[in-house]
Amino acid sequence: MKQSLFFSIAASLLLIAGCSGNKVAISQDQDPVDQLQLKDYEPVSVFQLEEHKPTAAKFSVIDMHSHPYRDDEAGIRAWAKTLEENNIEKVIIHTKAFGEEFDCLYDLYKGISDKFEIWCGFDMTKWDQPEFPACAIAELERCYAKGAAGVGELIDKGMGERISGKVKEPGLHFNDPKFDTLFEKCGELGLPVSIHSGDPIWMYEPIDAHNDGLMNAKHWRIDLSEPGILDLDGVVNAFLECVERHPNTTFIACHLLNYNHDYARLSEVMDSHPKLWLDISARHQETCVTPRATKRFYEKYQDRLLFGTDNDPDPSMYRAQWRILETEDEHFYLDEQSYHWPMQGIGLSDEVLKKIYHDNAVRLLSSRKK
Ligand SMILES: [Zn+2]
Repeated sequence: MKQSLFFSIAASLLLIAGCSGNKVAISQDQDPVDQLQLKDYEPVSVFQLEEHKPTAAKFSVIDMHSHPYRDDEAGIRAWAKTLEENNIEKVIIHTKAFGEEFDCLYDLYKGISDKFEIWCGFDMTKWDQPEFPACAIAELERCYAKGAAGVGELIDKGMGERISGKVKEPGLHFNDPKFDTLFEKCGELGLPVSIHSGDPIWMYEPIDAHNDGLMNAKHWRIDLSEPGILDLDGVVNAFLECVERHPNTTFIACHLLNYNHDYARLSEVMDSHPKLWLDISARHQETCVTPRATKRFYEKYQDRLLFGTDNDPDPSMYRAQWRILETEDEHFYLDEQSYHWPMQGIGLSDEVLKKIYHDNAVRLLSSRKK
């Protein structure tokens, strides 16, 4: 008892000693801290640290996750130039499209640069009718004949696949038997399939003072009260069931399966699904805040991780990728960032970078049937 009293007094003294500034008496309605809204908080780092800002990737890169962000010839040419300047050899464009939309995008991009590889979506228009999946398979084969080199991005955040086919109602989860013959066809044609399941965990959590991703959850959140919606585990498990059911189809789980908050569980998933690939796109802001755990995971699964961006292809977006993955810079904020977590460089080794940037993608893409 005496001992614990001693420690609590000592701890109080330490706290007081560590907080030596003068306490300022300001009424609540005058205090800027009470006036400041969380959404307006834009901290500037006070740390005077060495900074490293690579202007291009250290090794050749294949971007396995992008979208048709430019829709005119000048924009696509400028994008191709940015790719050249950043040491990016190839970009996979996930169109999510089929039919005429796919054909137009294919012709537009392929007519300008061979740096772009075009993937299609599933035709989900008849998803709730008996013609599905036969009509979706026929359209997949047509896109394949046109030049589609993979399928992406299919998305289920809890309400079923409803992005690629513009399905408005709650759609089908990927473990629905109605998808079986379609995924089998992808395997038969040698088309890899990129699937986005769920979203970062804080999007599913209550929007309150304890939500660790609150600054982003202001804009991005998932309403679990929607009838029939699956939570993050539900949607991830539906995806994994689909992967298990189609061993001859190559699956890429986008954004680290949205599970980087729990690398132990994600490791279990990787170990129990040895053919599953993960793309690391658009999650640096989640992963680089735990740089040591992330580095350990990336080193452990260095042969099954794929680089991707998934963001508007502005030169500053690419430069942020190289800084986060290649350097050990600490506690920095990106120019365009409105986010409460400061960035940390992960500092991957050359060996791991080469695999994640390029070699793993080559292995995956070259395993497709010719
Ligand atoms: Zn995407």
